[in-house]
Amino acid sequence: TPATTFAGRTVALFGLGGSGLATAVSLQAGGARVVAWDDSPESRARARERGIGVADLRSADWSGFSALILAPGVPLTHPAPHWTVDLAKAAGIEIVGDVELFCRERAKIAPNSPFVAITGTNGKSTTTALIAHILSDAGLDVQMGGNIGTAILSLEPPAPGRYHVIELSSFQIDLTPSLNPSVGVLLNITPDHLDRHGTMENYAAIKERLIRGSALAVVGVDDEPSRAIADRHRGPLVRIGVAQQDVDGLTVRDGIVAGRSGEAIADVSGIGSLRGAHNWQNAAVAIAVAQALAVTDGQIASALVSFPGLPHRMEEVGRRGRVLFVNDSKATNADSTEKALTAFRDIHWILGGKPKEGGIDLLAPLFDRVAHAYLIGAASDAFAATLEGRVPYTRCGTLDVATKQTAEAAARSEAPEPVVLLSPACASYDQFKSFEDRGDQFRALVRGLIG
Ligand code: ADP
Repeated sequence: TPATTFAGRTVALFGLGGSGLATAVSLQAGGARVVAWDDSPESRARARERGIGVADLRSADWSGFSALILAPGVPLTHPAPHWTVDLAKAAGIEIVGDVELFCRERAKIAPNSPFVAITGTNGKSTTTALIAHILSDAGLDVQMGGNIGTAILSLEPPAPGRYHVIELSSFQIDLTPSLNPSVGVLLNITPDHLDRHGTMENYAAIKERLIRGSALAVVGVDDEPSRAIADRHRGPLVRIGVAQQDVDGLTVRDGIVAGRSGEAIADVSGIGSLRGAHNWQNAAVAIAVAQALAVTDGQIASALVSFPGLPHRMEEVGRRGRVLFVNDSKATNADSTEKALTAFRDIHWILGGKPKEGGIDLLAPLFDRVAHAYLIGAASDAFAATLEGRVPYTRCGTLDVATKQTAEAAARSEAPEPVVLLSPACASYDQFKSFEDRGDQFRALVRGLIG
């Protein structure tokens, strides 16, 4: 999608990672002159190869810039956004992100094209992928991206009858003043990323902006801040309740998704890729969006069954005999691991890595579901102390040792369906490049074992 909004003008762009580079290319294709910077020499070299003008923005003449474009990959905790933002403010120019460029393009070329934007503290990627899957399965022309997968400006441009399904972080919403999707989704708000957004009020206010700009809002009302946003909203709204049952909208009980008058729409209780109450929220949200976009309940039900799920999120890797192997490497904190422990029993649990504040104390009520724990990485001492006297555990050091030992022990278990679960409740950086790397290695180890 060429971004034409700055045609004939010059803009500053900070951040030349994947989506930043895509933004630079799109702006240039749309006729803007781009002056870009990134602290990484490799990223700068890659941008130069693509014909992007690179210059140190610290010493640039900001009076010539019409806007500062911040790439979505740049964390606000990085010092650079602060000085670029300060310079942009001093120059009196606007500060926007790639989603803003997309919205302005859509307004010009296809203002009524279907555009679904999804945000929330948890479940964004799963819900975005599920909505895209349902729409594609119904034979529609779907473009999915944003915070998940492809950068928004690398997707095909908006067009009548083309559905854009876009995952948004709070940071991206903040940089998108013209955000006006046909359907805006707010899944949930829980304290997270408060380091980036300061207070909970500020974090919730950013999420509320998405809802306010939406022609139709779909809001999960299980948590207090989201419920308050729904109650304040003026305009078409569908509420989604799982923990909350008395809501005007869709509810889920025992995996059965029911509509406004209590009619059953779909049964997700037996769908492996949508295991757990948190996924029921994701499923109900996706159903509400698909219904609003005129997909029939029959089409929705069949698409739910064929949803493969996302890798590293309670991903079923395979079975050996009665033993089920599950890769939940995305669980980098105790909150996420809680979801996995709740979804299974007779768990042979591999955990550990780079520890996070709070440890695994909050998981204690679920320890009776754990048959044995296998500790890896830097958190081993701290976790052993929490488990002591409550859950039998073994220190394994590395993932390959843990996987072998866990598989053997699970095979000896007399439980009807023992589960080998990698759900580390830790970041991965002490032993792995990323949570994806950790999950990929686990999957490969398991495949090696089960043949
Ligand atoms: P995000 O893209 O928001 O990080 P994901 O779909 O990647 O979310 O899911 C990440 C993790 O968050 C999952 O492994 C699960 O533990 C948890 N999760 C998913 N959906 C929800 C939900 N609706 N509510 C609470 N937690 C969730």
